[in-house]
Amino acid sequence: MFKKLFTIKKLEQKNQELKKLNDMRADIISINAHQLRTSLTAMKWVFKMLIDGDLGKLEPEQKEYIGKISERNERMIKLVSEMLAVNKKEEVNLEYSFKAEDIVSLIENVIFDFSGEAFKNNIEINFEKPAEKIPPVRIDTEKIRVVLQNILENAIKYSDGEGKVLISMIPQKDYVEISITDNGIGISPEDQKKIFDKYFRAKNAEAKGPTGTGIGLFTTKNIIDKHGGKIWFESEENKSTTFHFTIPIA
Ligand code: ADP
Repeated sequence: MFKKLFTIKKLEQKNQELKKLNDMRADIISINAHQLRTSLTAMKWVFKMLIDGDLGKLEPEQKEYIGKISERNERMIKLVSEMLAVNKKEEVNLEYSFKAEDIVSLIENVIFDFSGEAFKNNIEINFEKPAEKIPPVRIDTEKIRVVLQNILENAIKYSDGEGKVLISMIPQKDYVEISITDNGIGISPEDQKKIFDKYFRAKNAEAKGPTGTGIGLFTTKNIIDKHGGKIWFESEENKSTTFHFTIPIA
C-alpha cells in the first residue's frame, strides 16, 4: 500500500518536471521564432529595396538572384509564422541572465532592424536621445531586445502611411524610462483593459493586419516584470499610442 502511494507520488513529481521542461522549450521556441521573424522581415525589406532599385539600379542577372533569395526569405517568414501559431501556450517561463548593458546602443540596433520596413511604409522613426549620459542598465539583453522589437513592430504595424514613431528616454535615480509613441490607429478605451492579455487583438488591429498573434505584449509584460520594471501605455483611438516601460540601472 505504502509502496504504491510512494510510486504514484514519484510519478506525479516526474510528470510535473516534464511539464516544466516542455513549457520552457515552448517558450524558447516562441521567443526565438519571433526574433527570427523580425530579422527575416528586416531582410525582406532590404531585398525589396534592392529589387525596386531604391539602392541603385541592378543588372538583370543581379536582380534575378536577389529575386530568388527574396522568395526563399518569404517562405522562411511563412514557416516561422506557422511555428509561432502552433506554439501557443499559457505561460512564459524563461531563464534570465542579467548584465550591465548600454541601452542607447541596443535601441539604435533595434531601430536599424526596422529601418527598411519603416522606409517602405513611409514611417519616420526618430530617437530622441537625452543630453546627459545614460548609465548602464541591468538587463537580459536578448529579452529587452524582444521587448523593443515587439513595441516598435506594433508602432509601425498599427500606423497609417506617413506615420511618425518617436522613441525617447528619461533617466531617473534607479531606473530608466523608455517611451515609444506612434500616431496610428490607437486602442479604444474598452480594449485597453485587455491589451496585455494573451492572444488578445483589438478589432481595429485585426481589420488592419491579419498577421498578429496577440502574444507580443503578453510576453513583453512578462519580461519587464522579470526585470522588476513597469510597463503601461496611453492611447487615443485613431490618434496615437504611447508605450512606456522602465528597466533598472545597473
Ligand atoms: P499582435 O500580434 O496582434 O500585434 P500584440 O500582443 O503585440 O499582438 O498586441 C496586442 C494588441 O494590442 C494588438 O493586436 C493591438 O490590438 C493592440 N496594440 C498593440 N500595440 C498597438 C499600437 N501601437 N497601436 C494600436 N494598437 C496596438
